[in-house]
Amino acid sequence: QRVTGRQYVQSVYETVIRRNPHESEFHQAVKEILDSLSPVFDQHPEYIEQGILERLVEPERIVTFRVPWVDDQDRVHVNRGFRVQFNSALGPYKGGLRFHPSVNASIIKFLGFEQILKNALTGQPIGGGKGGSDFDPKGKSDREIMNFTQSFMTELYRHIGPDIDVPAGDIGVGAREIGYMFGQYKRIRGANETGVLTGKGIGYGGSLGRKEATGYGCVYFVEEMLKSKGWAFKDATVVVSGSGNVAIYAIEKAQQLGAKVVACSDSNGYIFDPEGIKLETVKQLKEKERKRISEYASLHPSAQYVEGCDGIWSIPCDIALPCATQNEIDEASAKLLIANGVKAIGEGANMPSTLEAIEAFLGAGVLFGPAKAANAGGVAVSALEMAQNNMRLSWSFEEVDAKLHAIMRDIYESSVRAAKTYGEEGNLVTGANIAGFLRVAEAMMAQGVV
Ligand code: GLU
Repeated sequence: QRVTGRQYVQSVYETVIRRNPHESEFHQAVKEILDSLSPVFDQHPEYIEQGILERLVEPERIVTFRVPWVDDQDRVHVNRGFRVQFNSALGPYKGGLRFHPSVNASIIKFLGFEQILKNALTGQPIGGGKGGSDFDPKGKSDREIMNFTQSFMTELYRHIGPDIDVPAGDIGVGAREIGYMFGQYKRIRGANETGVLTGKGIGYGGSLGRKEATGYGCVYFVEEMLKSKGWAFKDATVVVSGSGNVAIYAIEKAQQLGAKVVACSDSNGYIFDPEGIKLETVKQLKEKERKRISEYASLHPSAQYVEGCDGIWSIPCDIALPCATQNEIDEASAKLLIANGVKAIGEGANMPSTLEAIEAFLGAGVLFGPAKAANAGGVAVSALEMAQNNMRLSWSFEEVDAKLHAIMRDIYESSVRAAKTYGEEGNLVTGANIAGFLRVAEAMMAQGVV
């Protein structure tokens, strides 16, 4: 007697829990995806026979390593480095590096698992991976950042390469860190393998439009969702959490489309500016001076600074773009947003909504753009950077932006289509999971049991 899709995903989920105890973030990401996939297995028993899911949830490889470094007072510190090479069915492992004190195996695995399907959704030839360290960049000098990133690369280099594994940035890793890591990799390898990292500076192989890509892409995705209801960003009130690379360019694109963005945040608190956020100030504070967002309020009297992060979701808005970090919207925040009339959510961060929050949004009929679809623009343009590096040429900003826009529309459409085909019309969580999964599963089937 054949097992049903539901029984199959349940048994694989139990194996994941047993094999990876105490890894709540990883369990959460696996649960969200596996729950969506059960109808696929009812139609494709061959995937069950070939153990596609058992293979998908087990990383091909996880590397954990010591990162020793010396601070400005000559004190020695040791951090832990990670790289999870999760799935290479579609191409070289691809995914960012996160430097944040919360980083552990669970967080890197959840990010890596999401990355497999996100990368598949872009339609580009990239597998899924993720890495990082529990190093805290906050308050570190430029010299300390360089010491740490060089030490990190001194171990990581042996595991990566332009056709093996191509890291990029994530929280705590931007152009500065990528630059230092690229310099160190080049020095160790004795070769200019330009495509080994993405998110590089424009002068040495970076792509125009990469910096903007995640934020712009998220807004392009939400624009498609809004269009399906005859709505638009124009004159909408928008709340964006975060003030890093994703948030800044989500704000920029939303403003270009005529929205009024009234709030953004950092890990200490948020600012509410009913007259609309002055983005130049945020860029100056965050990209150049590396200061706290609270400073914004002393520069703009129209704004109010509030300590703590949850409160940002109590601000009434039409569109909410969580662009800070995982699980930043819990059930209570979701219900507050719904009660205040939110129409659409676009996840710029990775897994910013808890499972209960997602359920609340979908239950209330709020348009919901899940992270692996809505924030895929960053990695999509990373793949375009790899393509340019391989050809040793560079495209104009307009060319990259047009390709990004087309990719985001395509992700939206394939997610809508997959949801419909598998009986979950309008549910983009299910749709994105299924559309991404089918691409990976087909490639895995074709390549045999590996
Ligand atoms: N860290 C980003 C993400 O979560 C980008 C990864 C990349 O460009 O490789 O998708």
